[in-house]
Amino acid sequence: MAEEFDLIETYFQPLSVVRSTELGIGDDGAVLDCPVHHQLVVVTDTLIEGVHFPESTSADAIAWKALAVNLSDLAAMGATPAFYSLALSLPQSKNNQAWLFSFAQGLSKLANLYAIPLIGGDTTKHDKLVVTITAHGWVPSLQMIRRSGAEVGDSLYVSGRIGDAGLAVPKILNHDVCPDVLRQALDYPQPRVSLGQLLLKYANSAIDVSDGLLADLHHILTQSSVAAQLNYSMMPFSDLVKQHTAASQDWLFPVTAGDDYELCFTVPKDKEQAFLVEAELLDTDVTKIGEIVEDRTDEKIIWIDTPEGFEAGDKRLGYRHYD
Ligand code: ADP
Ligand code: MG
Repeated sequence: MAEEFDLIETYFQPLSVVRSTELGIGDDGAVLDCPVHHQLVVVTDTLIEGVHFPESTSADAIAWKALAVNLSDLAAMGATPAFYSLALSLPQSKNNQAWLFSFAQGLSKLANLYAIPLIGGDTTKHDKLVVTITAHGWVPSLQMIRRSGAEVGDSLYVSGRIGDAGLAVPKILNHDVCPDVLRQALDYPQPRVSLGQLLLKYANSAIDVSDGLLADLHHILTQSSVAAQLNYSMMPFSDLVKQHTAASQDWLFPVTAGDDYELCFTVPKDKEQAFLVEAELLDTDVTKIGEIVEDRTDEKIIWIDTPEGFEAGDKRLGYRHYD
């Protein structure tokens, strides 16, 4: 069994490469340089075993996801990731070389993509695995993207695909066969960091989709005092998700299931062409799914172009059916 100091030195210290003017792991506090004309963006997310990931999840995936969900929050703000800290509550069953090595690898795989160091944290013993990461990033002063900036006439976009991760969850919990592509979407979300930085130039508002597209879009809508018209036929669903919705007639499943870690954002029409040209160069697809409209009723989300049978008693997050 690794003792706390050995554990930190062996597995976490190697992830803490900072500049010569800075301090990472090893002192009572980390000390970091701040770029001029920027503001610090700070986000925190906790993952609890059995709550935020299935107990069968590999150490590598738990670590990846714990960092990814934080980088996704930074991306939604338009921030460039800078560094992160880790508070780890570790059960005895996972305090072994194989598990810790794999956990540290999951962290470093993602952190290396953005060259961000682990700058400190805390390690405690606990009967359940709890992983809390705090990530820090920079935005040019006063240019952060907010949920409250959506305006009537903005086009509404989402990145990547929606619903794959959510579809994996019941399959895993029921011990059904779970196609790799779904398990991958659940275990290894890809934070849309470059897209977030591009959105600094183009988006009026953005949010990261963690609790389901409708629920998170709803935050933009309420904080911006607007409504949205959503086009069901334009949603970026995979074939597996389409098969599931058609078979179950549960049309709202993929937009309410969560765990997507995509960005949902609004772009004013006069910037849309330029945005799309630059977005082409990213490795992430963006899909226009609707438009921001005036908030005239209590229904914040108005669906158009829906499949037959769409209304079938489903009232998760108010919608109105228009065809
Ligand atoms: P203290 O007793 O002062 O809280 P610790 O013994 O907890 O310090 O930590 C020693 C050093 O190791 C600190 O620099 C701390 O930030 C770092 N550290 C502790 N746990 C972790 C962890 N899980 N990940 C990264 N760094 C950690
Ligand atoms: Mg401590």
